[in-house]
Amino acid sequence: MNTMYEPVIGLEIHIQLLTNSKLFCHCSTCFGAPQNTQVCPVCLGMPGVLPVLNERAIEFGIRLALATHCSIAERSIFARKNYFYPDLPKGYQISQFEDPLCSNGFIEVNDTESTHRIRITRIHIEEDAGKSIHAEEYVDADQTLIDLNRCGVPLLELVTEPDIRSPQEAYLFLTKLKQLVQYLDICDGNMEQGSLRCDANISIRPLHSKTLGIKTELKNMNSFKGVEKALEFEFNRQVQEIQNGNRIKQVTLMWDDKLNCVVPMRSKEMAHDYRYFPDPDLVPVIIRHSTIDTIQKKLPELPEDKLKRFMEDYKLPQYDAEVLTESKEIADYFEAVAKEIKDYKSVSNWIMGDVLRSLNEGKITINEFAIEPGRLSELLHLIEKKVINLTIAKTLFTKMMSDKRAPSELVTQLGLSQVSDTTEISALIDKILGQHQKEVADYLSGKVKIFGFLVGQIMRESKGRANPQVVNEILKDKLEKQRESNWGCIKS
Ligand code: ADP
Ligand code: ZN
Ligand code: MG
Repeated sequence: MNTMYEPVIGLEIHIQLLTNSKLFCHCSTCFGAPQNTQVCPVCLGMPGVLPVLNERAIEFGIRLALATHCSIAERSIFARKNYFYPDLPKGYQISQFEDPLCSNGFIEVNDTESTHRIRITRIHIEEDAGKSIHAEEYVDADQTLIDLNRCGVPLLELVTEPDIRSPQEAYLFLTKLKQLVQYLDICDGNMEQGSLRCDANISIRPLHSKTLGIKTELKNMNSFKGVEKALEFEFNRQVQEIQNGNRIKQVTLMWDDKLNCVVPMRSKEMAHDYRYFPDPDLVPVIIRHSTIDTIQKKLPELPEDKLKRFMEDYKLPQYDAEVLTESKEIADYFEAVAKEIKDYKSVSNWIMGDVLRSLNEGKITINEFAIEPGRLSELLHLIEKKVINLTIAKTLFTKMMSDKRAPSELVTQLGLSQVSDTTEISALIDKILGQHQKEVADYLSGKVKIFGFLVGQIMRESKGRANPQVVNEILKDKLEKQRESNWGCIKS
C-alpha cells in the first residue's frame, strides 16, 4: 500500500432475498428456470395491473436491520426510479428513495488486532430488473436476448458510509455481510449466481487528511476477491494519476476480470436524472413496534452469539469456534455430530481437517458432501470403541466419500477392523523380528530409536489394522525378554 495516500471506500450491495415469490406478484423466484417462464402481467408491466407488496420481503429487511443495528422507519415509501432499459418493461423500477426502510446502522469487521466499525447509511427494498443475454453461444454478435424471470425479484440494497480504509477491509466486510444474511436466512449469499452484487466506490486522499476526494465507481465484480483486486488496481491507478499531476474524473468503471484492469463505462456528469417520485399504486409501509418485537423474538442465533456459545458449551478454542461458525451450515453439521459424540474437540478436528479439506478439494458445499453428520458420528463411534484405529479411520473416511454404506458395514466388508487379539499380534511381531535381526541387535545395544522403526514395520505388515497400543506392549515385552536371554548367554 502507498504510504502517502489512503483509499476511502464505500460499498453498495444488492442482496437478493430468499422469498418464494416476487416483490409485487405471485411469480416464483426460483433460480435457473427456462427463460421467461416465471412472469405475469404485473412483473411484465402490462397496463392496468396493480402491485401487491410481499410482506415477507419487509420482514427480511427488518431482520437485517435488527442484525446491523439500523433504525427501522415507522413509515417508509416506495418510489419509482424512472429509466429506460430493455430488461425493465415498466420503464421504471420500484425502489425506495427518501424514506428507506432502514438507516443508520453498522457492521463491525475484525482483523487480527482491531475491530473497525463500518457505518451503514441505509438499507432499502427494491425490485430487480430482468437480464439481458449477450452471450455468443445463444445469439449472433449483434443480437441481445431478454429474460424477464428476474424482473420483480425482491432485493435489499445496502449502502455503507465511506468508512472502509483498504481493499482487504472491503473483502472482510463482504464476507461478514454474507455470513450475516446466510445466518438470517434471507439470502443464499451466492455471488456467482448474483444473489449478492457489489458496486464499490473509491477515492484517495493524503494520509491523515479528513476531506473526501473525487470518487470513481467500480462495477461488474463477480467475487469478493474480485472486489478486492479491482479496488487495489483502482487505488494504484488513482495514485498514479495524481502523481502525474492529473485530476481524478468521476466515472463509472467496469472491472475486467480476465485483463485485471478497469474499463470506463460512462461519465457521471452524463448520469440519468431518475425523476424519483412516490409510487401512486402503493400505500406507505407502516411498521408497528409489535411487528418488530415479533421479528426480533424469532431472530435466529447470530454468528457472534454462536461463536461464544461454541466456546462455552463445547469448550472449544476460539480458533476452532471461529472456523466452525464461519458458515451456518458447517456449524449445524458440527452440532449434529456433537449430539452423538461427546469428545467435541475430536469432532472439531475431523471437521476442520478432513471434512473442510474434502469440501475445498471437491469445490462443494457441506450440503453436497457425501458424508452426512450421521455417518461421520458412526465413524467416530468406531474409533471410540476401538474397532478401528486412527490410520484406518482416515482410509475409511476416504472410502465413505464414494460409498454410501454405513461405516460399520464397510469395516466388516473390507476387513478393516482393528486387530487387538494378542496371539495374532504376537505372531506378527515374531515374523517382523525374525526379518530384522540386525535392527533388533542395534536396539539392544542402545539405539532406542529403532523401536519406532520396528513398530512401523509391524503396523505395515498388519495393513494398519493392528492396535498400536497392543503392538507397543507386546513388542517391548519381547525385546526385554531377548535382552534378558542375551545376558544369560554372556554369563554362561
Ligand atoms: P452518488 O451520489 O454517486 O450515488 P452517494 O453519496 O450516494 O454517491 O454514495 C454512494 C456510495 O459511495 C456510498 O457507499 C458512499 O459511502 C460512497 N462514497 C461517497 N463519497 C465517496 C468518496 N468521496 N470516496 C469514496 N466513497 C464515497
Ligand atoms: Zn409476476
Ligand atoms: Mg447515491
